[in-house]
Amino acid sequence: MKRKYKCIICGRVFPEGQGIVIKYGDLELYFHSNRCASKFLCQLLERIPPDEIKGYIKRLVEENLEQLERVAKVKSKKI
Ligand SMILES: [Zn+2]
Repeated sequence: MKRKYKCIICGRVFPEGQGIVIKYGDLELYFHSNRCASKFLCQLLERIPPDEIKGYIKRLVEENLEQLERVAKVKSKKI
């Protein structure tokens, strides 16, 4: 029997393997769709004082941009 989860944003029930399950410390967050997950992300960002997480977000954005550049370089070499 597959486990069932309940989306914490809209309440929709979805089976294991679908939707998004995020484990954060001892918390588990369930979202039936990307849309509900991004809604939660926006709510979360609104609540956290920007000064507390701005550094982490900036670093994460930089890391992702660096990764994109690496992928772009690999692609340009192939051509
Ligand atoms: Zn949902």
